[in-house]
This record gives sequence, C-alpha cells and structure tokens, in this order.
Amino acid sequence: MQDLVHVSRHPLVLDKIARLRDVGTTPKEFRELVADLARLLFMEAGTDLKTADCAVQTPMAQCTGQKLSERIGLFPILRAGLGMAEAILQLVPQAQVWHLGLYRDHRTLKPVTYYNKLPPTPALDMAVVLDPMLATGGSAAAVIDILQQRSIGRIKFIGLIAAPEGVRAMRERFPEVSLYLGAMDSHLNEVGYIIPGLGDAGDRQFGTL
Ligand code: URA
Repeated sequence: MQDLVHVSRHPLVLDKIARLRDVGTTPKEFRELVADLARLLFMEAGTDLKTADCAVQTPMAQCTGQKLSERIGLFPILRAGLGMAEAILQLVPQAQVWHLGLYRDHRTLKPVTYYNKLPPTPALDMAVVLDPMLATGGSAAAVIDILQQRSIGRIKFIGLIAAPEGVRAMRERFPEVSLYLGAMDSHLNEVGYIIPGLGDAGDRQFGTL
C-alpha cells in the first residue's frame, strides 16, 4: 500500500518546493513554481500511460513512433488546483478538464457539491485529481467519491505539499489511488493549515492575501 504514496526526490522538485514555501516569493513567481511542479509531478504520475504505434515520416525516412492512446481527465480542486491544470494541459493539450465545485458545510462538516457537469459515464481512461495542498483530504476524497460513482477505474492524485493526516485519510478510504506528492510535511495545525507548508495556496497564487 505504501508504494502508492510517491514523494518526489527529484532535485528540481526539491528546489522548487523550497522556493514555493518562501514567504518572499511573489504571486507571479508562485504561479510559475506551481506550474513547473505540476508538470514535473505529472511526468512521474504518467509513466503508466499507454501509447500506440504510429507511422512518422521524418525528413530522412519513415519510422514508427508512439502516441498517447489514453483519454486523460484533469480534475482541479477549486480554486488552488486551477494553475496545476493549466500547466499540465500544456503537456497534454488533448486532456479533458472537469471542474467540480465543492464547499464544506459548516454545520455538518461534510462536502457539498454545488457544480458538477460530469456525465454519468465520462469517456476517460485516467483521472487525475489536482490540489496543491493535501491537508485533511476532505475535498480530494469528495472528488474521488464522485469519480468512483462513475466507475472511472484509474484515479491518481497530484499534490505539491501533503500533511501525514491527509495521506493517512486517503490511504484508508482509497487504498488503490496513487498519490504523487512534492513534499510530506510535519502536521496540520488546529485550523487545518499544513506546517511548515506555505500558507494559503489559493491566496498566494492569486494575490488575495
Ligand atoms: N490549504 C492551503 O492552502 N494551505 C494549507 O496549509 C492547507 C490547506
């Protein structure tokens, strides 16, 4: 089970995570780092994507190449996951991007879906849920519930920074979902922020501090 939790040790990821955390990083730099990290982690998450042979005519000769043969769906968790989806789309422009809007009901503490246009049987081979911060795991779990109700078989999660509490919750509820993470931090504080973390990933991306 543990091998489904991938915490990147790539030197580029380590370097960019350190700069992302830095309180002095501007929103512009922060967005660029989020984009770079999302692409680097997608490279790690996508190593099992299937390809099919295709004929390629180079200026010199004909050869056989490989093209992606799987349909990929990106599911950014609003709003902080948006920058990650935009960045990954540059690598796989044919991917579908589905927006699922969820908020947490303050009375029941349960996620409530307020926007969901996902069809009952989406034409997808692999779904990738995107959230920079895996804190309690509540939002990611709500999205994965929706995907599993629609029988999407291969579901992965990409996060930039995770708390052990969120990883544990995801492992318990979805032991088959692989997690691709940029860093695993110490703990959540009493109001659900990751320590040391980076603060609020949405505010830091969109300059709304
Ligand atoms: N969401 C954030 O943006 N930051 C955290 O530390 C936890 C959740």
